[in-house]
Amino acid sequence: MKLEIELIPQTAWGENLRSMFTASQWTKIRNAVYKKYDNKCTICGAEKGKDVKRLNAHEVWEFDDKTNKQILVNIIAVCDRCHGCIHYGRTQQTSKELNDPSILERINEHYMKINNCDEAKLTMDIFNAKLLWMQRSTKKWELDISKVFDIVDI
Ligand SMILES: [Zn+2]
Repeated sequence: MKLEIELIPQTAWGENLRSMFTASQWTKIRNAVYKKYDNKCTICGAEKGKDVKRLNAHEVWEFDDKTNKQILVNIIAVCDRCHGCIHYGRTQQTSKELNDPSILERINEHYMKINNCDEAKLTMDIFNAKLLWMQRSTKKWELDISKVFDIVDI
């Protein structure tokens, strides 16, 4: 699995899978995801309990720009660092709000290490992700989570 910046359009913020389930249902889904990926980060391979304290269940969405559908295509286990790269905009915001540049620096370093790239490439990737985000944020997205039980076995 590649490490890419995936910015959720502003018009789709708050529309996530977690909010559609009860807390206990979501825990079941999350645990099934961690089990499926052997308690390892799907992207960098960091292992829960060994390399990292915890993992996150990350929803992978496909945005169909023709039909305006936001389709759930996968749920993967990711470590905090990979998660911080994927949600780059949110990381930037947190780093700014807490007035702690080291948060963003750690994420930048992780991104460059995993993708074996330099800062110029990172800057370009951020720029492109933001451009796409701006375009997608002008539209309203219709959620399609019909594949959820094909993705997780619960
Ligand atoms: Zn990772």
